[in-house]
Amino acid sequence: MNFLYSSDDRIEMLKKRTRRCVCKYCGGSLTLRRIIFHDIEDVRVEIFCASCDRIEFGVELEIYHSARNFVENIGFHYYTGMDQNEKTQQMDIAKVCDILSWGCKNMGILKQDGFQVPLQLEKNNWAECLVLSSEDIPLEEKTKEKGDL
Ligand SMILES: [Zn+2]
Repeated sequence: MNFLYSSDDRIEMLKKRTRRCVCKYCGGSLTLRRIIFHDIEDVRVEIFCASCDRIEFGVELEIYHSARNFVENIGFHYYTGMDQNEKTQQMDIAKVCDILSWGCKNMGILKQDGFQVPLQLEKNNWAECLVLSSEDIPLEEKTKEKGDL
C-alpha cells in the first residue's frame, strides 16, 4: 500500500474537492472511488466522474462556468485538427479550465481549498456577444438619405 496516496489528509482533501468541484470536461458532479491498480498492486482513492467514466481531479465550479461560457460564446477551439463535436468541445472547455485555474493559482486567489476571495460570477455575461465570421454577415447596401453626411 502506498501511504502517500492513502493518507487521511489526502482523503480529506479529496472529499472536500468532490463537494466543491465539478468535472472539467462535462461539468458534472464528482464522487470518490476506490481504484485498484493491478500493475503496481495498489489501491487508491481517487476523484471520479461517473458520467465521463474517468479519474478526474475536478475544477472549481466558477472556473468551469467561465470556461464553458468562453468556449461556447467565443467559439474557441484548441484542438483545431480534430472534428468539432461534443467530445472536442468538452476537451476545449477542459483546456480553458486548466488555463483559468493556472492563472487564478498564479495570482494567488485560488488555493488547494478553493478560492481565497469572494467571487461574484456574472451569469450569461456573454449572452449579448455573438461572434460571426465575415461570411455570416449579409452584405447590406447602405442607401444615402437626405441629411446623411
Ligand atoms: Zn465528466
